[in-house]
Amino acid sequence: MKYKFITRGDEASENIKNLIRDIYLKNDEEVESNPEHVFAIGGDGTFLRAVHDLVSCTSKDCQIPCVVHGINTGTLGFFTSYTPVKEQLEELFNRIRIDQLCTRTIRPLSFGVVFDDNTSQQGLAINEITITTAERKTLTAKIIIDNNNFEKFKGTGLCISTTIGSTAYNKSLGGAVVHPDLDVIQLTEMAGINSASYQTLSSPMVLPADSSIEVETSDNLVITFDHCSMSLNQSNKKIKYIWISQSAFEFKLDTTNNNNFIKKLKRSFIISE
Ligand code: NAP
Repeated sequence: MKYKFITRGDEASENIKNLIRDIYLKNDEEVESNPEHVFAIGGDGTFLRAVHDLVSCTSKDCQIPCVVHGINTGTLGFFTSYTPVKEQLEELFNRIRIDQLCTRTIRPLSFGVVFDDNTSQQGLAINEITITTAERKTLTAKIIIDNNNFEKFKGTGLCISTTIGSTAYNKSLGGAVVHPDLDVIQLTEMAGINSASYQTLSSPMVLPADSSIEVETSDNLVITFDHCSMSLNQSNKKIKYIWISQSAFEFKLDTTNNNNFIKKLKRSFIISE
């Protein structure tokens, strides 16, 4: 198998990486691009970085989605299925060899910022995309959903999240937690101002995954996509609009020991067992 590691970079995670490499992957090939398996050793933040790395190192014509395995060196998180104990690592590599993993196909969100000269800058998010102004002023924007002029927003910003991102920033903004069996996109306002001039829905909106969202604004923007950000206030070009839709890129998330969403929610947000 062709594999790649991404770790949190701390000593414990690096030690686990070396142990796995020496014991379980002696006869396999460590690669920089087009891996078949990625081992993300750390927490949910490490998992996000691993998927962003995977996007940048996967060829466009690659037909078989890579499987990403989260090995947690803290507490079991939302994306991680294994703790680095002997029994669990043995289970992981046995399951890989006999092709008996439990996985879920994940398609992130894509977005593009289109400028007035029709050039664009693009990115991808596993959790969410947020749009705010560069100067921390209020954002004024027209929101178009599936080609329908929907509303004129004024407020701190907008958050567009995936199903698996629903428990991240989206949740802190009052968005709905979405069961992973539902494939959706969620649009959540960040402190929307409602007045006679600017009227918005004022509640999170859950849309089918094939929906398209366009945001038209002339403000200077900062766009975040997971842990990454794109500052657009340096550019001398004007933004025409931003589009957001589900991406064509997909990967498989190993959910073998972490497939019970209700238990995971309880453990993470209500009471740890
Ligand atoms: P980070 O430290 O990598 O992540 C922030 C926290 O969010 C960590 O505790 C992380 O878990 C957890 N997390 C990440 N994805 C999650 C998910 N899908 N469900 C539940 N928890 C999740 O921070 P970062 O590098 O700045 O940004 C990464 C993410 O942080 C963003 O995608 C955003 O969702 C989130 N964020 C949240 C807020 C907020 O809630 N107010 C504000 C900014 C950013 P681990 O400890 O296991 O890594």
